[in-house]
Amino acid sequence: MAQLHEYECPKCGGALEFNSAIQKLKCPYCDSEYEISEFEAVDSALDQTENEQDSVDHADGADSEDSASGLVSYVCKSCGGEIVGDSTLASSACPFCGNPVVMMGQLSGSLKPDYIIPFKLDKKAAKEALKKHLEGKKLLPKVFKNENHIDEIKGLYVPFWFFDTDVYADIVFKADKTSLREDNENSYRDVAHYSLSRKGNMSFENVPVDASQAMDDALMESIEPYDFADAKKFSTAYLAGYAADKFDIESSSCLPRAKDRISLSVAGAVKNSITGYENVTLENADFEYSDTFAKYALCPVWLLNTSWNNEKFTFAMNGQTGRFVGNLPVDKGALKKYFFTVAGISALIVYLFINFFLG
Ligand SMILES: [Zn+2]
Ligand SMILES: [Zn+2]
Repeated sequence: MAQLHEYECPKCGGALEFNSAIQKLKCPYCDSEYEISEFEAVDSALDQTENEQDSVDHADGADSEDSASGLVSYVCKSCGGEIVGDSTLASSACPFCGNPVVMMGQLSGSLKPDYIIPFKLDKKAAKEALKKHLEGKKLLPKVFKNENHIDEIKGLYVPFWFFDTDVYADIVFKADKTSLREDNENSYRDVAHYSLSRKGNMSFENVPVDASQAMDDALMESIEPYDFADAKKFSTAYLAGYAADKFDIESSSCLPRAKDRISLSVAGAVKNSITGYENVTLENADFEYSDTFAKYALCPVWLLNTSWNNEKFTFAMNGQTGRFVGNLPVDKGALKKYFFTVAGISALIVYLFINFFLG
């Protein structure tokens, strides 16, 4: 099994790149275009079990791994240069010749993604969004506006688990009802206290949780949602020209975060359905989950990290929808604000919520 794969142009031998505008592989040298399906044969190797792989290879397909540093090195087949990446790197470009390379061993067997949401927005769009974000920020340190620095923005496929699950919710709210009445002498205000019980089933589809330790969970949630309708059956050809990481958090470890989000959403949606009462407060909520299923998918993110005064600042843009978040030294509240205003699955909730009572 090949350790590194390069997508070569069948016509001229140039390194192909996935072009988000046409959703095909394109040769930057001779302009030939190729459908992803034309390269399906390359991926047949991904379904081999590790035992079937060349026994000389490491299980992860790397040329050598330094377990102390967590770095893995590969040898570029085009120029012989050494490509060094951390142990989760699954796709990159050779730093010497610039050719896109895919680390096949990082994506095979149990590590093979089920789906990929391909990039829809290109680097130009990401740079424009970033420049717009920086516009008018006069107090911004120079390093943030530096054109060379902005050019370093990179397209990265981030690993996600998408959970499908059914949930049975049994929720009790406390609530009041006030009525006013009058007799000849006085007016009265009667407050009645209620305990409201709501029970029902909901189904959730594609609740995302990022599966990369290196990526900040709140940051990733702030650029949601991803439209899973555009997800494609995974093919390594989509990775050509982009960086990619494999998951390093198991689905079982991500599931509690998905459940927390679902529980919050269900409780909020049910609460919003209660009308005609005042002071509605949550008293108790029980959730039972069943038929839970995790899908492994890679999602597109445009990313730029900047360090300034020993602090790290990140600009991230959803490579599918263009939604972005950036924290800047003069704009510290931005990240938090986005985190609270974006309920990534809220649109879904409204739909499910209607079914909750009809069904
Ligand atoms: Zn070509
Ligand atoms: Zn090279």
